[in-house]
Order: sequence, then C-alpha cells, then structure tokens
Amino acid sequence: MSEIKHVLGISGGKDSAALAIYMSRKHPDINVEYYTCDTGKELKETYDLINKLNSVLGKDIKLYKSIDELNSPEKNPFDHFMAVNGGYLPSATARWCTTKMKLQPFEDEIGDEPTISYVGIRGDENREGYISKKENIQSIFPFRKNIWSEDVIKKFLSNSNINFIIEHYELLAPDHHLETILNYVKTPISPRFTQRQKLNALLDSDVKLFNKVVFAFLKTTDYPVGKLDHFSLIENDEILGIDDIFQILDDSGVGIPAYYLPIEYTVEIDGEIKKGIYSRSRSGCFFCFFQQKIEWVWLLEQHPDLYDEAIKYEKDGFTWTIEPLMELKKPERVNSIKKEHYLRTNRAKPQTATSWQDEILEAEGEGCASCFI
Ligand code: SF4
Repeated sequence: MSEIKHVLGISGGKDSAALAIYMSRKHPDINVEYYTCDTGKELKETYDLINKLNSVLGKDIKLYKSIDELNSPEKNPFDHFMAVNGGYLPSATARWCTTKMKLQPFEDEIGDEPTISYVGIRGDENREGYISKKENIQSIFPFRKNIWSEDVIKKFLSNSNINFIIEHYELLAPDHHLETILNYVKTPISPRFTQRQKLNALLDSDVKLFNKVVFAFLKTTDYPVGKLDHFSLIENDEILGIDDIFQILDDSGVGIPAYYLPIEYTVEIDGEIKKGIYSRSRSGCFFCFFQQKIEWVWLLEQHPDLYDEAIKYEKDGFTWTIEPLMELKKPERVNSIKKEHYLRTNRAKPQTATSWQDEILEAEGEGCASCFI
C-alpha cells in the first residue's frame, strides 16, 4: 500500500467518538491516527471521554498542539490566542478560536503528506462538515450512504466524465443488470436532473458498485484515496444515524459523554412546580458562544466554578452572548429561561414532548463541525 496517512479528529462529541470506535472495529486494516486539538477550556466530561477512548481504541490519541505552552506566557491555548487577538472574545462571526486552535494545528501537523481524514457526519444529517482547502487532504464520511465529499462527487459526475463512468460500470460489473444504472449515467446533469438526483439514483441502485467506480476514477486523480491499492470503505454500505451512535458508545463501554445525559430541573410556573430536563447539546469550550440559554443555565447549576470563570472573560462591554452572564445568572432570569425551555419542550401533547435526544438533534444545526462532531 502506498504511504498515505489516515487521521480521525476526536472533538469530544459523540459522533467522532463513535466513529473512532467504528473504524477500529470495522476497518482494522486501516491504520488510523486518532488526534484531538485541546483548547484548554473543555469540560472535564470531555477529558474523561478522551481517556476512556484511549483505552478502548488501544492506542494513544495524539494531541495536535496549537501553541508551545512552555513558551507562552498564558500557558493555555485559548488564553494565548485571546491575548494575541487583543483580548477580543471570539463570536459566531469572528471565530478565530476554531481557526487557531483546531484547523491550523491540524493542517500544520499534516503538512504536505497525502492524507485521508475520516469525519463523523451521520447518515441522518444534512451537512457537509469541514473540508480542507489543501489538496493533499481528502475527507471521507463513513457513516453516510455517500462516503465521498462534495468536490469529488462534482468532478466524478460532471457531464464530461460520462464516458468514463459507463466504461467502468461495464468493466467492474460485466454480469450485472446495468440497463437502469446506465440510463441514469447517460442522462446529463441539468436543471431537470440535478447532481443530487443523479447521485441518489446511482447510490440507490448499488452503493458498493458506485463506490468502486468512484475509486477507479480517483486513481486518475491526485486524491489520496486514489493512491491506495485497496480501500475497504468502498465495500461499506451501512448508514448510521443517531441511535446507532448511542448504541456504539454504549456497547463499547465508553458510554455517552456525560454532559449529554439528561438532568432534572424544577421551575415554578403559575404557582406550580414543574420538572423539566436539561443537558448540554455539544462538546467544545465550556463558554462556547454557540450555547443556548438553557445550556448556560446548565453550566451555572452544574459547573458554577466554570460559569464564574466565563464571567471573568466579559470585560469592557464584550460578552459571550447579547445578554451578559451576570444578568443571566439572576434567579428571576434563570427561572424565566427554564420556564421558556419547559414550555417549548412540553408544548406538544405530553406523550410527544421533545426528548433530550431530540434537543441534541435540534441544536446540532448551529455551530462548528470541528468542535462539535
Ligand atoms: S467550542 Fe466554541 S469557543 Fe471553543 S473553539 Fe469551538 S467554536 Fe470556539
């Protein structure tokens, strides 16, 4: 096999943790380097998860460092870059934190080596995830029906490639009943038959065969997968959703990251005490600005020391969210956030109230794939 590096980033979230276990069990032939990028401000639950994964995977998870801590006055990645950025807090529109502490250390570590990066976007999600702009890094999505990234699919399915695809379907499956598949292949992409429709039609016809033809195509390119002699993922037609992810974590003994677990809270509504459920919906820094109000309340009540630490960053009018944390922690505000949360999650008939897994799913659309997958 050619010298290709295989890497998998563990963010501290459930999906990347489950993918690491999945790859080590289902594709032991692939020598994956597991890595994490520590911001220095993660929750203790995230560090616990990484320690458990270390023993289950049977190999150390490498730390891709963003700073030389010994030579940094702050000794902590987030505080170091905060100082470098003139004390400006990151935000959804100025997200220097992800660039400096996740993407840059990853790309620096990889350098120019041809590398395949495995990403834990699930089969029940509709998002692409981070794709490196560096040509030597190719992303693969093992949990999805379509394991290939958008850039590969665009080149592969381009109308100028139709003859190649026909030729290789015929070559790779001479005994297969190809008539329907070839009809799809021969139909050019147009507003009446979009790239997505063509992709779905070919995947629905035969995933493994589609993957084999894409693999043959990649051999004509500089993509890292094309440099491999063999790639076991092309034989994979599993699609994994959120229930499968929780199952993998449970079965492995790693368990669900503790911050996802539902915790009961009480709230007074119209003189009555109600019991609601909250949890944190994502990994990442404890003060992440992508958090919902109820997650700030979770932090205040479950990790009051970290909430106070988050307050200390709010200076000179700069705050993590529009509402300063000193205001948000007032008992009447906490009660009103819980009330709004309780009413929203119990708005439907009681028997169809939103579950904590539903809440995690809802919150996933927001945020950053590098920190939360
Ligand atoms: S978790 Fe949030 S604050 Fe931390 S690096 Fe990611 S986006 Fe930035």
